[in-house]
Amino acid sequence: MIKNISHIGIAVKDLDKAIEFYQKLGLELESTEVVESQKVKVAFFPVNNTRIELLSATSEDSPIAKFIEKKGEGIQHIAFAVDNLPESLKQSEEKGIVLIDKEPRPGAHNAQIAFLHPKSTGGVLVELCEEKH
Ligand code: ZN
Repeated sequence: MIKNISHIGIAVKDLDKAIEFYQKLGLELESTEVVESQKVKVAFFPVNNTRIELLSATSEDSPIAKFIEKKGEGIQHIAFAVDNLPESLKQSEEKGIVLIDKEPRPGAHNAQIAFLHPKSTGGVLVELCEEKH
């Protein structure tokens, strides 16, 4: 069901500043993108077969703005790559995992994504991600 860690999502206040930091570490910026449905602007840094996803809010009611308000900047979610997202959601629900998204929704990179609820994952916001190639 899970292939690899697609990316690690990190909530940041200042996207440009955060990009600068990861560039200083020697990583290469792959792309930036606004994801309207989530009210975020994201930046991706590939690291071998996974990525760092920096997320900044594009509006005050963005989930990222709320996250930073509550917990401060830092790791916000872990995304696992799956082959078949609808099937993974169905299986997760059958196993008693609480879903935030019952249906896949569009994420960055043309991927379909869905979140599992932290109350059934031990406090970690888990994203399942089906990447389109
Ligand atoms: Zn993500």
